[in-house]
Amino acid sequence: MIRVYLDYNATAPVRAEAIEAMGRAIQAGGNPSSVHAAGRAARALVEDARGAVAALIGAPASTVVFVSGGTEANALAIESARAAGSRRLIVSAVEHDSVLENARHSGAEVELLPVDRDGVADIAWLENRLSRWDAAWGRPFVALMLANNETGVIQPVARVAEIVRAVDGWLHVDAVQAAGKIPVDSRALGADTLSVSGHKLGGPQGVGALTFGPRVSLTRRLHGGGQERGRRAGTENVPGIAGFGAAARASLASLSAMQAQAVWRDQAEKRLAEAGAVIVGAGAERLPNTLCFAMPGFGAELQVMGLDLTGVMVSSGAACSSGKVRPSHVLSAMGLAELAGCAVRASGGWATKGSDWDRLVEAWIELNGRHAARRRAPAA
Ligand code: PLP
Repeated sequence: MIRVYLDYNATAPVRAEAIEAMGRAIQAGGNPSSVHAAGRAARALVEDARGAVAALIGAPASTVVFVSGGTEANALAIESARAAGSRRLIVSAVEHDSVLENARHSGAEVELLPVDRDGVADIAWLENRLSRWDAAWGRPFVALMLANNETGVIQPVARVAEIVRAVDGWLHVDAVQAAGKIPVDSRALGADTLSVSGHKLGGPQGVGALTFGPRVSLTRRLHGGGQERGRRAGTENVPGIAGFGAAARASLASLSAMQAQAVWRDQAEKRLAEAGAVIVGAGAERLPNTLCFAMPGFGAELQVMGLDLTGVMVSSGAACSSGKVRPSHVLSAMGLAELAGCAVRASGGWATKGSDWDRLVEAWIELNGRHAARRRAPAA
């Protein structure tokens, strides 16, 4: 059976460059905090990777803090804002659970920034909310992701940054899905903090980074040694960081190839829509690799399992939290709750071919035809 992997937004296959870099780092050994030759070599690997990640996201290398992944990066941003006195957090309704749940567990009041039917943040709502900000709530904090993991919808982050900056607020941008798929320039976007994750762009799982701008300072979540300039204690995950750096470098070099993949996605989208699927976020600007589509009356889990039997791997809802049975909060926030149980996400990436998208479409059309026939057949 030909296997087709279209679930890059859950995790991307690890790039050859990253595997090689990790292997070299493991073999080299050494603790980056040691002053001897082995330690200095490990330090050089970490700093080289820091430079590569910084280049990918348009940040000065000195502001890139390595952490255990996107979840920790988001948690660090939120805890830092709390430590700086933010008592009310505005978080977009379509954020990843790692933002929503860390905000909810932070002890602050959380308010959801609504989105429209395409999943784009309601800027007028935000302007209005910030214009009535109560000083007792501390510094305004807004979390708005750059691109959504389920729909691929890209948010007007630069515009929101202007609004947040006008009230001296703190804008956190989860760029976990955007990095490596579209150009990300943390400074041009106006992000005060911005998170990325290694495994979404062909690096290993369990490593990520947070960058921060000059208007904010980070607190410590983990106490102990002075690693990461005192911002994150614990011996660095040198192989993971080296792999992340190699993947970041390769991703930056292949951004235009990634953009070109939109053609395949768009063709697939057209054929699926012709076959009756509803395209989620169709009216918004989206990542070039992501397609979220729903077939009313055809459960998402059935679609995913049926496709898997034909060798095509996609996901339903947010794969990061697969196993959950509640409908996608993203689609619900878009006013599409009735579609949330029958929406599927296909997402390509660095090793995807046009034929992978063709295979998805063919397999899905056949599956959908069989499902429709079963529904039409009178009960025996
Ligand atoms: N943010 C977004 C938008 C994501 O899609 C994910 C993972 O799916 C995360 C954060 C969490 O990243 P990690 O798996 O590295 O913790």
